[in-house]
Amino acid sequence: MNGNGAIPFLDLVTPHRELRQELTEVFQWALDTAGFVGGPMVEQFETAFARFCGTKYCVGVGSGTDALRFALMATGVKAGDIVITVPNTFTATAEAISQAGAEPRFVDIDARTYNLDPAKVREYLENSCTVDDRFGVVTDAKTGKPVTAIVPVHLYGQMADMDALLDIAEQHKLSVVEDACQAHGARYFSRKGNRWRTAGSMGKAAAFSFYPGKNLGACGEAGAVTTDDTELAGKVRLLRDHGQARKYHHDLEGYNGRLDAILLSRNEAVICPYEPFWSHAVYHLYVIRTADPDGMIQHLKAADIGTGIHYPVPLHMQKSYSSLNYSPDDFPVASRVAVEIVSLPMFPQLTSEQQARVADEVLRFVQNALISQ
Ligand SMILES: *Cc1c(COP(=O)(O)O)cnc(C)c1O
Repeated sequence: MNGNGAIPFLDLVTPHRELRQELTEVFQWALDTAGFVGGPMVEQFETAFARFCGTKYCVGVGSGTDALRFALMATGVKAGDIVITVPNTFTATAEAISQAGAEPRFVDIDARTYNLDPAKVREYLENSCTVDDRFGVVTDAKTGKPVTAIVPVHLYGQMADMDALLDIAEQHKLSVVEDACQAHGARYFSRKGNRWRTAGSMGKAAAFSFYPGKNLGACGEAGAVTTDDTELAGKVRLLRDHGQARKYHHDLEGYNGRLDAILLSRNEAVICPYEPFWSHAVYHLYVIRTADPDGMIQHLKAADIGTGIHYPVPLHMQKSYSSLNYSPDDFPVASRVAVEIVSLPMFPQLTSEQQARVADEVLRFVQNALISQ
Protein backbone atom coordinates (compact mmCIF):
# COMPACT_ATOMS: atom_id res chain seq x y z
CA MET A 1 0.00 0.00 0.00
CA ASN A 2 1.36 3.40 -1.00
CA GLY A 3 2.07 5.38 2.16
CA ASN A 4 1.27 8.68 0.45
CA GLY A 5 -1.91 7.66 -1.38
CA ALA A 6 -5.33 8.97 -0.53
CA ILE A 7 -6.90 7.49 2.61
CA PRO A 8 -10.65 7.29 2.10
CA PHE A 9 -12.96 7.64 5.09
CA LEU A 10 -14.46 4.26 4.24
CA ASP A 11 -13.52 1.71 1.59
CA LEU A 12 -16.39 -0.57 0.59
CA VAL A 13 -14.91 -1.71 -2.70
CA THR A 14 -11.88 -3.65 -1.44
CA PRO A 15 -13.73 -5.93 1.02
CA HIS A 16 -16.23 -6.91 -1.67
CA ARG A 17 -13.43 -7.51 -4.16
CA GLU A 18 -11.85 -9.86 -1.62
CA LEU A 19 -15.18 -11.68 -1.23
CA ARG A 20 -15.99 -11.67 -4.92
CA GLN A 21 -15.72 -15.42 -5.43
CA GLU A 22 -17.81 -16.28 -2.38
CA LEU A 23 -20.45 -13.67 -3.15
CA THR A 24 -20.70 -14.70 -6.80
CA GLU A 25 -21.47 -18.26 -5.74
CA VAL A 26 -24.20 -17.01 -3.44
CA PHE A 27 -25.70 -14.81 -6.15
CA GLN A 28 -25.58 -17.74 -8.56
CA TRP A 29 -27.38 -19.95 -6.06
CA ALA A 30 -30.04 -17.29 -5.58
CA LEU A 31 -30.47 -16.98 -9.35
CA ASP A 32 -30.63 -20.73 -9.90
CA THR A 33 -33.22 -21.24 -7.18
CA ALA A 34 -34.95 -17.87 -7.56
CA GLY A 35 -34.59 -17.75 -3.79
CA PHE A 36 -34.49 -13.98 -3.58
CA VAL A 37 -36.54 -13.36 -0.47
CA GLY A 38 -36.43 -15.37 2.73
CA GLY A 39 -35.77 -19.08 2.44
CA PRO A 40 -32.98 -21.28 3.78
CA MET A 41 -30.22 -18.71 3.30
CA VAL A 42 -32.02 -16.20 5.53
CA GLU A 43 -32.83 -18.90 8.07
CA GLN A 44 -29.19 -19.98 8.23
CA PHE A 45 -28.16 -16.39 8.73
CA GLU A 46 -30.77 -15.89 11.47
CA THR A 47 -29.51 -18.92 13.36
CA ALA A 48 -25.88 -17.88 13.02
CA PHE A 49 -26.50 -14.27 14.03
CA ALA A 50 -28.61 -15.24 17.07
CA ARG A 51 -25.72 -17.45 18.22
CA PHE A 52 -23.25 -14.62 17.60
CA CYS A 53 -25.31 -12.27 19.79
CA GLY A 54 -26.14 -14.87 22.43
CA THR A 55 -29.90 -14.66 21.93
CA LYS A 56 -32.54 -17.32 21.29
CA TYR A 57 -33.95 -15.63 18.21
CA CYS A 58 -32.95 -13.46 15.31
CA VAL A 59 -35.53 -12.32 12.78
CA GLY A 60 -34.20 -10.86 9.53
CA VAL A 61 -36.01 -7.78 8.19
CA GLY A 62 -35.58 -5.22 5.42
CA SER A 63 -33.46 -2.62 7.25
CA GLY A 64 -32.30 -1.38 10.61
CA THR A 65 -35.14 1.12 10.65
CA ASP A 66 -37.66 -1.69 10.10
CA ALA A 67 -35.96 -3.72 12.81
CA LEU A 68 -36.33 -0.91 15.34
CA ARG A 69 -39.92 -0.12 14.38
CA PHE A 70 -40.97 -3.81 14.48
CA ALA A 71 -39.14 -4.40 17.76
CA LEU A 72 -40.89 -1.42 19.36
CA MET A 73 -44.30 -2.46 18.06
CA ALA A 74 -43.73 -6.05 19.16
CA THR A 75 -42.79 -4.95 22.69
CA GLY A 76 -46.16 -3.21 22.89
CA VAL A 77 -45.31 0.42 22.09
CA LYS A 78 -48.50 2.01 20.79
CA ALA A 79 -49.73 5.18 19.15
CA GLY A 80 -49.58 8.04 21.65
CA ASP A 81 -46.78 6.58 23.78
CA ILE A 82 -43.56 8.35 24.62
CA VAL A 83 -40.23 6.59 23.97
CA ILE A 84 -37.00 7.86 25.50
CA THR A 85 -33.90 8.11 23.29
CA VAL A 86 -30.91 10.36 22.58
CA PRO A 87 -30.67 13.42 20.31
CA ASN A 88 -27.22 12.46 18.95
CA THR A 89 -27.98 9.55 16.69
CA PHE A 90 -28.80 8.80 13.09
CA THR A 91 -32.29 10.15 12.43
CA ALA A 92 -33.61 6.60 11.79
CA THR A 93 -33.74 6.01 15.55
CA ALA A 94 -36.32 8.74 16.03
CA GLU A 95 -38.10 7.91 12.75
CA ALA A 96 -38.66 4.33 13.87
CA ILE A 97 -40.17 5.59 17.14
CA SER A 98 -42.50 7.94 15.27
CA GLN A 99 -43.40 5.27 12.72
CA ALA A 100 -44.43 2.99 15.56
CA GLY A 101 -46.89 5.78 16.45
CA ALA A 102 -44.99 7.04 19.49
CA GLU A 103 -43.24 10.32 20.23
CA PRO A 104 -39.48 10.46 20.81
CA ARG A 105 -38.49 12.13 24.11
CA PHE A 106 -34.82 13.04 24.01
CA VAL A 107 -32.60 12.73 27.07
CA ASP A 108 -29.02 14.01 27.11
CA ILE A 109 -25.87 11.92 26.86
CA ASP A 110 -22.82 11.09 28.95
CA ALA A 111 -20.00 13.52 28.09
CA ARG A 112 -17.38 10.77 27.81
CA THR A 113 -19.11 7.84 26.09
CA TYR A 114 -21.63 9.96 24.08
CA ASN A 115 -24.29 7.40 25.03
CA LEU A 116 -27.58 7.83 26.92
CA ASP A 117 -26.87 8.99 30.49
CA PRO A 118 -28.79 6.80 32.99
CA ALA A 119 -28.70 9.56 35.62
CA LYS A 120 -30.45 11.92 33.22
CA VAL A 121 -33.08 9.29 32.37
CA ARG A 122 -33.80 8.95 36.08
CA GLU A 123 -33.90 12.72 36.44
CA TYR A 124 -36.43 12.98 33.61
CA LEU A 125 -38.65 10.23 35.05
CA GLU A 126 -38.51 11.64 38.57
CA ASN A 127 -38.79 15.36 37.79
CA SER A 128 -40.82 15.57 34.60
CA CYS A 129 -43.18 12.62 34.95
CA THR A 130 -45.84 11.42 37.35
CA VAL A 131 -45.72 7.82 38.50
CA ASP A 132 -48.77 5.78 39.41
CA ASP A 133 -47.29 3.32 41.86
CA ARG A 134 -50.28 0.99 41.83
CA PHE A 135 -50.18 0.31 38.12
CA GLY A 136 -46.60 1.34 37.49
CA VAL A 137 -47.76 3.78 34.81
CA VAL A 138 -45.37 6.66 34.07
CA THR A 139 -46.90 9.75 32.50
CA ASP A 140 -44.99 12.62 30.93
CA ALA A 141 -46.25 15.67 32.86
CA LYS A 142 -46.04 18.09 29.94
CA THR A 143 -47.93 16.03 27.35
CA GLY A 144 -49.95 13.69 29.56
CA LYS A 145 -48.71 10.78 27.43
CA PRO A 146 -47.54 7.44 28.87
CA VAL A 147 -43.80 6.71 28.79
CA THR A 148 -43.43 3.07 27.78
CA ALA A 149 -39.95 2.35 26.41
CA ILE A 150 -36.29 3.36 26.29
CA VAL A 151 -34.13 3.08 23.16
CA PRO A 152 -30.45 3.31 24.13
CA VAL A 153 -28.26 3.74 21.03
CA HIS A 154 -24.90 1.94 21.17
CA LEU A 155 -23.25 4.81 19.30
CA TYR A 156 -20.06 4.39 17.22
CA GLY A 157 -19.82 0.72 18.30
CA GLN A 158 -19.82 1.13 22.08
CA MET A 159 -22.65 -0.10 24.27
CA ALA A 160 -24.59 2.20 26.58
CA ASP A 161 -24.47 1.56 30.34
CA MET A 162 -27.08 -1.20 30.19
CA ASP A 163 -27.07 -2.36 33.84
CA ALA A 164 -28.11 1.08 35.04
CA LEU A 165 -30.65 1.56 32.24
CA LEU A 166 -32.22 -1.87 32.79
CA ASP A 167 -32.55 -1.12 36.54
CA ILE A 168 -34.41 2.11 35.83
CA ALA A 169 -36.57 0.40 33.20
CA GLU A 170 -37.48 -2.44 35.53
CA GLN A 171 -38.39 -0.04 38.31
CA HIS A 172 -40.73 1.88 36.01
CA LYS A 173 -41.95 -1.08 33.91
CA LEU A 174 -40.48 0.30 30.69
CA SER A 175 -39.36 -1.88 27.77
CA VAL A 176 -35.78 -1.49 26.63
CA VAL A 177 -35.08 -1.90 22.90
CA GLU A 178 -31.40 -1.57 22.00
CA ASP A 179 -30.48 0.32 18.86
CA ALA A 180 -27.48 -1.90 18.05
CA CYS A 181 -27.24 -0.76 14.40
CA GLN A 182 -23.63 0.40 14.95
CA ALA A 183 -22.57 -2.24 17.46
CA HIS A 184 -22.49 -5.78 16.02
CA GLY A 185 -20.32 -7.78 18.41
CA ALA A 186 -19.69 -4.98 20.93
CA ARG A 187 -19.52 -6.25 24.49
CA TYR A 188 -20.51 -4.97 27.90
CA PHE A 189 -19.44 -6.29 31.26
CA SER A 190 -22.61 -6.63 33.31
CA ARG A 191 -21.59 -6.05 36.93
CA LYS A 192 -25.02 -7.33 37.87
CA GLY A 193 -24.67 -10.63 36.03
CA ASN A 194 -20.89 -10.72 36.55
CA ARG A 195 -20.27 -11.61 32.91
CA TRP A 196 -19.65 -10.12 29.50
CA ARG A 197 -22.76 -9.65 27.36
CA THR A 198 -22.98 -9.01 23.62
CA ALA A 199 -24.84 -6.10 22.04
CA GLY A 200 -28.39 -7.10 21.24
CA SER A 201 -28.75 -9.58 24.11
CA MET A 202 -29.57 -7.28 27.03
CA GLY A 203 -32.76 -5.43 26.15
CA LYS A 204 -36.16 -7.01 25.64
CA ALA A 205 -35.25 -6.82 21.96
CA ALA A 206 -32.61 -5.17 19.79
CA ALA A 207 -32.38 -3.77 16.28
CA PHE A 208 -29.43 -4.31 13.91
CA SER A 209 -28.72 -2.81 10.50
CA PHE A 210 -26.69 -4.53 7.78
CA TYR A 211 -26.58 -1.48 5.53
CA PRO A 212 -23.37 -1.77 3.45
CA GLY A 213 -21.47 0.83 5.51
CA LYS A 214 -22.14 -0.84 8.88
CA ASN A 215 -19.71 -3.18 10.62
CA LEU A 216 -21.55 -6.15 9.15
CA GLY A 217 -22.68 -4.99 5.74
CA ALA A 218 -25.02 -6.74 3.33
CA CYS A 219 -24.98 -6.39 -0.44
CA GLY A 220 -28.04 -4.17 -0.17
CA GLU A 221 -30.46 -3.20 2.57
CA ALA A 222 -30.90 -5.56 5.51
CA GLY A 223 -31.63 -5.59 9.21
CA ALA A 224 -32.56 -7.92 12.06
CA VAL A 225 -34.28 -8.06 15.43
CA THR A 226 -32.73 -10.16 18.19
CA THR A 227 -34.58 -11.29 21.32
CA ASP A 228 -34.95 -14.12 23.84
CA ASP A 229 -38.72 -13.69 23.87
CA THR A 230 -40.58 -16.32 21.81
CA GLU A 231 -43.76 -14.31 21.52
CA LEU A 232 -41.94 -11.13 20.56
CA ALA A 233 -39.95 -12.95 17.84
CA GLY A 234 -43.22 -14.33 16.49
CA LYS A 235 -44.75 -10.86 16.36
CA VAL A 236 -41.77 -9.50 14.46
CA ARG A 237 -42.03 -12.37 11.95
CA LEU A 238 -45.65 -11.41 11.40
CA LEU A 239 -44.86 -7.72 11.12
CA ARG A 240 -42.17 -8.28 8.54
CA ASP A 241 -44.54 -10.19 6.28
CA HIS A 242 -47.13 -7.51 6.28
CA GLY A 243 -46.14 -5.46 3.33
CA GLN A 244 -42.56 -5.07 4.39
CA ALA A 245 -40.48 -5.50 1.24
CA ARG A 246 -37.27 -7.25 2.20
CA LYS A 247 -34.37 -7.96 0.01
CA TYR A 248 -32.50 -11.20 0.24
CA HIS A 249 -29.84 -11.82 2.84
CA HIS A 250 -26.89 -14.10 2.54
CA ASP A 251 -24.03 -15.24 4.59
CA LEU A 252 -22.03 -12.13 5.19
CA GLU A 253 -18.49 -11.33 6.07
CA GLY A 254 -18.30 -9.08 9.09
CA TYR A 255 -15.48 -6.81 10.04
CA ASN A 256 -14.29 -4.70 12.83
CA GLY A 257 -11.11 -2.78 13.22
CA ARG A 258 -9.29 -0.84 15.83
CA LEU A 259 -7.22 2.26 15.31
CA ASP A 260 -4.23 2.53 17.56
CA ALA A 261 -5.14 5.35 19.91
CA ILE A 262 -1.81 5.71 21.73
CA LEU A 263 -0.33 8.26 19.32
CA LEU A 264 -3.32 10.54 19.62
CA SER A 265 -4.30 10.03 23.23
CA ARG A 266 -1.23 11.85 24.60
CA ASN A 267 -2.35 15.10 23.06
CA GLU A 268 -4.65 17.29 25.13
CA ALA A 269 -6.04 19.17 22.15
CA VAL A 270 -7.73 15.99 20.91
CA ILE A 271 -10.28 13.96 22.87
CA CYS A 272 -10.15 10.28 21.86
CA PRO A 273 -12.93 7.73 22.33
CA TYR A 274 -13.39 6.76 25.97
CA GLU A 275 -13.90 3.07 26.70
CA PRO A 276 -15.03 2.32 30.27
CA PHE A 277 -13.74 -0.88 31.89
CA TRP A 278 -17.14 -2.51 31.32
CA SER A 279 -17.02 -2.02 27.56
CA HIS A 280 -15.45 -3.67 24.51
CA ALA A 281 -16.24 -1.31 21.67
CA VAL A 282 -16.12 -2.45 18.04
CA TYR A 283 -15.43 1.03 16.61
CA HIS A 284 -18.03 1.29 13.92
CA LEU A 285 -16.68 4.83 13.83
CA TYR A 286 -13.55 6.33 15.35
CA VAL A 287 -14.69 9.74 16.52
CA ILE A 288 -12.39 12.33 18.05
CA ARG A 289 -13.22 15.78 19.43
CA THR A 290 -11.36 18.98 18.72
CA ALA A 291 -12.01 22.69 19.24
CA ASP A 292 -11.85 23.32 15.49
CA PRO A 293 -13.39 20.40 13.59
CA ASP A 294 -13.83 22.38 10.35
CA GLY A 295 -10.15 23.33 10.36
CA MET A 296 -9.19 19.73 11.12
CA ILE A 297 -11.36 18.40 8.29
CA GLN A 298 -9.89 20.92 5.82
CA HIS A 299 -6.36 20.03 6.93
CA LEU A 300 -7.00 16.29 6.52
CA LYS A 301 -8.68 16.88 3.17
CA ALA A 302 -5.59 18.72 1.93
CA ALA A 303 -3.59 15.66 3.02
CA ASP A 304 -5.97 13.41 1.00
CA ILE A 305 -7.55 11.89 4.11
CA GLY A 306 -11.31 11.37 4.20
CA THR A 307 -13.43 12.26 7.25
CA GLY A 308 -17.06 12.43 8.34
CA ILE A 309 -19.22 13.99 11.06
CA HIS A 310 -21.63 11.71 12.91
CA TYR A 311 -23.85 13.60 13.43
CA PRO A 312 -23.57 17.37 12.82
CA VAL A 313 -27.12 18.35 13.78
CA PRO A 314 -28.66 16.73 16.88
CA LEU A 315 -32.21 15.50 16.34
CA HIS A 316 -33.77 18.10 18.66
CA MET A 317 -32.46 20.76 16.25
CA GLN A 318 -33.76 19.09 13.07
CA LYS A 319 -36.62 20.67 11.15
CA SER A 320 -38.31 17.27 11.02
CA TYR A 321 -38.64 17.29 14.85
CA SER A 322 -39.47 20.99 15.33
CA SER A 323 -42.97 19.98 16.44
CA LEU A 324 -41.44 18.48 19.59
CA ASN A 325 -40.65 22.08 20.65
CA TYR A 326 -37.17 21.55 22.01
CA SER A 327 -34.85 24.51 22.36
CA PRO A 328 -31.16 24.38 21.35
CA ASP A 329 -29.85 24.23 24.93
CA ASP A 330 -32.15 21.45 26.17
CA PHE A 331 -29.37 18.86 25.72
CA PRO A 332 -26.13 20.74 26.37
CA VAL A 333 -23.82 17.73 26.17
CA ALA A 334 -25.21 16.45 22.87
CA SER A 335 -25.14 19.98 21.44
CA ARG A 336 -21.54 20.63 22.49
CA VAL A 337 -20.31 17.26 21.25
CA ALA A 338 -22.01 17.78 17.88
CA VAL A 339 -19.85 20.84 17.08
CA GLU A 340 -16.57 19.22 18.15
CA ILE A 341 -16.62 15.77 16.52
CA VAL A 342 -14.67 14.43 13.54
CA SER A 343 -14.90 10.79 12.38
CA LEU A 344 -11.53 9.51 11.16
CA PRO A 345 -11.06 6.77 8.51
CA MET A 346 -12.11 3.37 9.88
CA PHE A 347 -12.40 0.12 7.95
CA PRO A 348 -10.69 -3.27 8.19
CA GLN A 349 -8.28 -2.78 5.27
CA LEU A 350 -6.86 0.42 6.81
CA THR A 351 -3.15 -0.38 7.19
CA SER A 352 -0.96 0.55 10.17
CA GLU A 353 0.95 2.93 7.89
CA GLN A 354 -2.27 4.65 6.95
CA GLN A 355 -3.33 4.81 10.61
CA ALA A 356 0.01 6.39 11.51
CA ARG A 357 -0.36 8.92 8.70
CA VAL A 358 -3.84 9.89 9.88
CA ALA A 359 -2.56 10.28 13.47
CA ASP A 360 0.44 12.35 12.26
CA GLU A 361 -1.77 14.72 10.30
CA VAL A 362 -4.21 15.11 13.21
CA LEU A 363 -1.32 15.99 15.51
CA ARG A 364 0.25 18.32 12.94
CA PHE A 365 -3.04 20.19 12.71
CA VAL A 366 -3.47 20.68 16.47
CA GLN A 367 0.17 21.70 16.87
CA ASN A 368 -0.11 24.29 14.10
CA ALA A 369 -3.31 25.56 15.73
CA LEU A 370 -1.50 25.94 19.07
CA ILE A 371 1.38 27.83 17.48
CA SER A 372 -0.85 30.23 15.56
CA GLN A 373 -2.90 31.09 18.68
C1 LIG B 1 -27.89 2.84 10.36
C2 LIG B 1 -28.63 3.13 11.59
C3 LIG B 1 -30.01 2.91 11.71
C4 LIG B 1 -30.88 2.50 10.54
O1 LIG B 1 -30.46 1.40 9.81
P1 LIG B 1 -30.91 1.24 8.26
O2 LIG B 1 -30.52 -0.16 7.92
O3 LIG B 1 -30.17 2.27 7.48
O4 LIG B 1 -32.38 1.45 8.20
C5 LIG B 1 -30.62 3.13 12.93
N1 LIG B 1 -29.91 3.54 13.99
C6 LIG B 1 -28.59 3.79 13.92
C7 LIG B 1 -27.88 4.24 15.15
C8 LIG B 1 -27.91 3.61 12.72
O5 LIG B 1 -26.59 3.86 12.65
